[in-house]
Amino acid sequence: MLDFRLTSEQEHLRQEARNFALRELLPVAWYYDEIDATPIPVIRKAYDAGLINLDIPTRYGGRGLGLVEATLCTEEMAAACSGLATSLFDNSLGMEPLLMSVNDAAKEKYLPKIAKEFKMICFATSEPTMGSDVAGMRCQADEDGGDYILNGTKYWITNGAIADYASVFATVDRKAKHAGICAFLVEMNWPGVTVGRTIPKMGQRCSNTVGIHFENVRVPKENVLAPPGEGFVLAMRTFARTRPTIGAFGVGAARSALEYALDYAKKRRAFGMAISTFQAIQFKLAEMFQKVETARLLTWKSAWETDQGVDANLSASIAKLYATEAALEVVNEALQVFAGYGYTKMFPVEKIFRDVRLLRIYEGTSEIQRVVLASHLLTEYQPIMPPLEDLPLHREFDPLDPMAAKAGQNVWRCRICGHVHYGDHPPDVCPYCFFPPSAFKRIETPPTGS
Ligand SMILES: Cc1cc2nc3c(=O)[nH]c(=O)nc-3n(C[C@H](O)[C@H](O)[C@H](O)COP(=O)(O)OP(=O)(O)OC[C@H]3O[C@@H](n4cnc5c(N)ncnc54)[C@H](O)[C@@H]3O)c2cc1C
Repeated sequence: MLDFRLTSEQEHLRQEARNFALRELLPVAWYYDEIDATPIPVIRKAYDAGLINLDIPTRYGGRGLGLVEATLCTEEMAAACSGLATSLFDNSLGMEPLLMSVNDAAKEKYLPKIAKEFKMICFATSEPTMGSDVAGMRCQADEDGGDYILNGTKYWITNGAIADYASVFATVDRKAKHAGICAFLVEMNWPGVTVGRTIPKMGQRCSNTVGIHFENVRVPKENVLAPPGEGFVLAMRTFARTRPTIGAFGVGAARSALEYALDYAKKRRAFGMAISTFQAIQFKLAEMFQKVETARLLTWKSAWETDQGVDANLSASIAKLYATEAALEVVNEALQVFAGYGYTKMFPVEKIFRDVRLLRIYEGTSEIQRVVLASHLLTEYQPIMPPLEDLPLHREFDPLDPMAAKAGQNVWRCRICGHVHYGDHPPDVCPYCFFPPSAFKRIETPPTGS
């Protein structure tokens, strides 16, 4: 059964998030963008309102909600400011490896603190010289009497300067690639952890991004989230769960750009009439609307699949890829509707444009999503249609008509050029491509008269 309606609880949550975003995020977004800072009081208010950490199970003091609920909230937050939404959502990214680890003691220790004490946790796989190639990480973890000693640098870490904890991925052996990767929960105030300067970014400047350096940081074995060999899979499973949320960032940002463009188009006049009367502008708005709606459907589908326990790896990639690319296209067209004013800081689209540009980069670039999808197609995908060489493409008779002239004859198809030949044997040479009889394959045809 398909049902796209939200439950009354989900509608209520969406409305709560919408009200919060309009009241708390929208008024401050441009100021914090200008000063390149993350408003921690706003994150605190979202925490107090129960609008972050939605996925912490109730037994640890959380709301125990699913990914569908997370995407509903995220769309609303991102519509106000996708930079702030990134920082608000980052706890979910950071705690996902903990939630999915088999380390129950660490869950008992840390999840209640995150749920009840406003503790923040960031996620650290990327490094100064590595992002997409997770298996190529350099951050070193050396076993020492059961503990691990961490040395290395993580880079691009969202909320790295304001987090209390970090889910850190490292390797026990760089040469072992995937097989060497492990993961730890690191407390940011442990000796040897240093946070770098805020990285100056083009957009999403309301979201803190830093490097984190580890120098002989001792991590007790109680804080291992994935032993060597299991860290890579944990990182990939994390992305499969968090990519739908990035789709929701795209939906929210694109939706607000569309709404601003719609408003502007109805009021701006050219050649004596509102520009919304020009079909060129109307078609832009229509396409923007179509992209927002499509992106939301894909995002919801992948979130729903995850909540149902279905493997959502592919749908999450599709949602992330489509929604983030659509968002950039929508915002770009919104800027075109505003034209000159769109290119200024006096109107909102300029910031949204800078903010959404990031969506195609983090949590797996668009190229990496295409790699995921292409690799599935080429190795696992089960086609429904017959292989080309088994496709008869009868043009000379109806194979279901027993009285047809060529009924009952063998059918041969040239594998090279597709020519279909009827007779007991293939032709001595293909009359189109001149390949020999070995190029022909006999095709099974349905029994005539069936
Ligand atoms: C603002 C911001 C916040 C971030 N937050 C976090 C965070 O909280 N935690 C974290 O761990 N990381 C974070 N990241 C890092 C982010 O995930 C990486 O930037 C991203 O994965 C890409 O890695 P890279 O920048 O090193 O690019 P590279 O991996 O060097 O890629 C460079 C280019 O090559 C392409 N490419 C690479 N490999 C392939 C391939 N196999 N096939 C085709 N094309 C390929 C890429 O798509 C890209 O176009 C953040 C990044 C930014 C900018």
